[in-house]
This record gives sequence, C-alpha cells and structure tokens, in this order.
Amino acid sequence: MGKLKLASFWAAACGGCDVAILDIHEKIVDLSKVADIVFWPIATDFKYKDVEGYEDGYIDVCLFHGAIRNSENEYVAKLLRKKSKVMVAFGSCAMFGGIPGLANFKQRLDILNKVYVESPSTVNPEKVFPQTEYKVPEGELDLPEFYKDVKCLADVVDVDYYMPGCPPAAHQIWAVIQVIASGNLPPKGSVVGAENKSLCDTCKRVKTDRKVKKFVRPYQIKIDPEKCLLEQGLPCMGPVTRAGCGNQCTNANLPCRGCYGPLDGVIDQGAKYISALASVVDADNPEEADKIISQIVDPAGTFYRYGLPGSLLRRAK
Ligand code: SF4
Repeated sequence: MGKLKLASFWAAACGGCDVAILDIHEKIVDLSKVADIVFWPIATDFKYKDVEGYEDGYIDVCLFHGAIRNSENEYVAKLLRKKSKVMVAFGSCAMFGGIPGLANFKQRLDILNKVYVESPSTVNPEKVFPQTEYKVPEGELDLPEFYKDVKCLADVVDVDYYMPGCPPAAHQIWAVIQVIASGNLPPKGSVVGAENKSLCDTCKRVKTDRKVKKFVRPYQIKIDPEKCLLEQGLPCMGPVTRAGCGNQCTNANLPCRGCYGPLDGVIDQGAKYISALASVVDADNPEEADKIISQIVDPAGTFYRYGLPGSLLRRAK
C-alpha cells in the first residue's frame, strides 16, 4: 500500500484534538513516512479551494474533529466527505457534540444576546448581530450562518468510523493511524481507539458497594486516592463511560466526566447515568433520595457534558 493521503479538519471545537495529534510526539516523523498531509489547516497552508480542486475520493482518510455549529462547518464536512474515502468522526465533539453541544441547553437568540449585547465588554445599543451577507464598497462579505442547534458530524454526512475522547488519547491515535495505514479496516460504523467496556472495568480504585448519602464537588473533600470516587460522593461517570483513555482523570484523583461517551448499545449516556446513580444512593424514601440527588450541581450539564446533541434529548425545548 502506498502512502496515505490524510486530511484533518477542526470545526466547532477547542483545537485540543489537533494538539492531541501533535501529542504523538516523535511518532509524527513516522506519520510522515506513512501519510502525506493534504489538508490540515492548523499545521499546513492548504485552503478550501485546494480541497475543492481534488478529485472525489482523492483523500484516503479524513480525521474530522468538532461539532457542526454553523454553515461553514457543514459545508466543509460535506466537501471533505465527498473528497475522502474514509471519514472518521474524531473526538467527542464530532462524535456526539462535545462541550460546544452544551449550547443546546440555550436558544440561539439567547446566545447571540449574551455575546453581542450583554457581555460586559460589549457596547452595542442597537443590538446589531452578525449578518450572513454585508455589502461594502470593495464588494460583498459573507459570514457563516449560526445554526439553531449544535449537531454531530453524522447528522450532516455519512461517517465511517468514530473515535471518542476529549481529546482522544495520543496512544490510541497512533494505534488507529497504524491500523488505517495497514489497510485492515474494521467494519464500517465501528468505534475505534477505545474499548467496549466501562471505565469502571479498567479502574484500579477499590470498590466496596458503599452507598452514597451525600454528593460533593472535588474541592469540598479530601479525596482518598485509593477508593472509588463515586463511593466518596463524587459524581464519577465511570460506570456509563467507554474505557480507552487510560483512566487519566481518575488516576489524577478526579472523577470521570464522560468524554469517551456511552458503550455500544447505550443510546443515552445521561439517562444511563441517572439509572446508575439510583443504584448507589442511600435513601430510605423518595424524599430523601430527592434531597441527596439535588446535591449534584448542574445535573443536566454534568450528565450530558459531552453528548447532548447525540443524546435522546438533543436539546432543551
Ligand atoms: Fe473508578 Fe469512577 Fe468507576 Fe469508581 S465510579 S470505579 S472511581 S471509574
């Protein structure tokens, strides 16, 4: 097999996935032996018009990170899909909306007001919002349309593989690149670079089936580094989150936040977590259960932190 033609693109995301690719460190040199970069805006000077000029299917693999927040994100997703043989939803934002997807708890107009009118550093008494088209003496300017909802990559194009993580772990990225370069591709639709077992299954912390009387945030207690965080009252998403990150957060004494998303067959990670919590709460009656659960700060934002657009809820009404 010859060298791969590889593309990587960043839509609605923080850029951490690009940094994660660079985190393969010296293997980036090995990457250049197996792949030619044909589009990677953060690292190389290709333009959209270069990609538009490629024949359909010219790119072997596209690692697409970021959610679909605006019309530019969608345009580039469709362009790269057309030009790529294999499309990978790379990272939690592309796969299920990620942190940008939390915006689906708000309405479009609320967001525009917050940013362009109410923010302390803004002076905008006429409430002017960005226009998608604007005429100036030099010609016509255009801006992407800001969508009502944040969407997942698979909401706008056909996706071949999914690689979760915020960001995906560097060791997993390298393993996936090697598999792609070998040509031994898994079945279409597979989740790659992660495992189909829960983070609890790979966690070394001691579990005792102790029930929880009180939920806390990490700064409120002295965390025992050996014991299960959930049993210490920290809402750890480990029971409902796919393993593969190397337990980075729990090893650093912090609860899992769920960025690797749900396991195969689970369609709503947040709902699954509510069910998991129900089994650990130490309450004698519904009122006491309510009181204990209400100690969790921002439950919706905690349980759907990375996956609201890809969940059953998708957005707040
Ligand atoms: Fe480990 Fe969190 Fe699972 Fe407890 S709940 S075993 S801390 S991953």
